Amino acid sequence: MALIVKKFGGSSVATTEKILNVAKRILGEKKPEDKIVVVVSAMGDSTDNLITLAEGIDNQPYRAQYLREMDMLLTTGEQISIALLAMAFQKLGHPAISLTGSMIGMRTNSIHTKGRILGINPKRVHEELEKGNIVVVAGFQGADKFGDPVTLGRGGSDTSAVALAGALKADECEIFTDVDGVYSADPRIVKNARRMKEITYVEMLEMARLGAGVMNPRSVEMGQYFNIPIHVRSTFTNTAGTIIREDYTLEDKDFEIRGVAHDQKVAKVAVLGVDNTPGIAHTIFAALADANIDVDMIVQSIRNIEKNITDMVFTVALDDLPEAKKVVDAVAEKINAIGVLVEEDVAKVSIVGAGMLGSPGVAARMFGALAKANVNIDIISTSEISVSCLIKASQLTEAVNSIHDEFFAD
Ligand code: ADP
Ligand code: ASP
Ligand code: MG
Repeated sequence: MALIVKKFGGSSVATTEKILNVAKRILGEKKPEDKIVVVVSAMGDSTDNLITLAEGIDNQPYRAQYLREMDMLLTTGEQISIALLAMAFQKLGHPAISLTGSMIGMRTNSIHTKGRILGINPKRVHEELEKGNIVVVAGFQGADKFGDPVTLGRGGSDTSAVALAGALKADECEIFTDVDGVYSADPRIVKNARRMKEITYVEMLEMARLGAGVMNPRSVEMGQYFNIPIHVRSTFTNTAGTIIREDYTLEDKDFEIRGVAHDQKVAKVAVLGVDNTPGIAHTIFAALADANIDVDMIVQSIRNIEKNITDMVFTVALDDLPEAKKVVDAVAEKINAIGVLVEEDVAKVSIVGAGMLGSPGVAARMFGALAKANVNIDIISTSEISVSCLIKASQLTEAVNSIHDEFFAD
């Protein structure tokens, strides 16, 4: 007997026909003794459509005051798909029950729209499995100590699935999506991207953190924490997919670069003409931290040596920009900055690979590939296993392809 958690993303359940196909596929693969938990996302683009609805009330629905209501709204998307999938199983003759995040005991903190899982008590899931049900769970959502719904950030159904697999001590966690695995770059942008048989948690986490949307970064952390191999595979075909695990077992480990990631949902903020004195960076970034805004690349550049003032430039997620601008405008006034500039026409392109440790030429090759594509670099940042460049959004496709060609030519 195996306990298997299977997660199906929005495109996999975009229509009722697709939902019926998902149910058919699961029943076709299920051995009689298997216990199956299915985690699902909202149908197709319905989460985006719910956000558009909220924009009809206020064109900046991610303001702090609305976040609880945004969660109330966004959790309805998954509630629709779980009900329909449970009905599909029943229609095909197998008992099934749908459960929301709060019903599966998914406890979160109260940071609305960016919730973190504090713990899962899946008693109800076990009870329903014992009764012979296929348990269909709403991804992306939990409940806080008040019982209020909290979502886990965009793409958070992956996290729900892996965390639930960990809490249930599942034998397998499969992530079904519209691609047949993890590729060396987004196959929608790089036509000759290569599918990987395996990738380590560490490299996948870095790829995901830097924008490779095939997996949510938090879900990869969960996989590593519970040491559960995650199998990323296609909803629509039967190909083998990619296993995310602690270490490589099959492939040659001698690659410097594992993949190229990109992120278009970023924005640049520049606080101009701030005093070059101790405490200024703290004042700016503490205010952003208090508003739960993650800051990514940071550059402090010298503007005027004689006057000893600098510009503080950094990037945030595009969704956070309105709130970040509000926070930074208030701080800028307090610290007498000359002004605040924001730029949305930016994107981040990154190379990722544990093999670049101790390979000094890798960053230079990336910059060379960007130069070849005539792409100017605005900001550079590095970690032990990645190099990222902020560039103009309009040049993203050329940039990603040129870098991919440089490292994956043959
Ligand atoms: P789901 O709705 O199933 O969660 P997502 O849209 O979140 O699906 O993730 C799948 C998409 O991730 C793919 O369609 C692909 O365009 C994108 N993607 C980005 N980077 C990669 C990569 N390195 N490998 C595979 N897919 C990637
Ligand atoms: N429906 C949510 C989103 O679109 C969660 C998910 O799909 O993983 O972000
Ligand atoms: Mg996803």
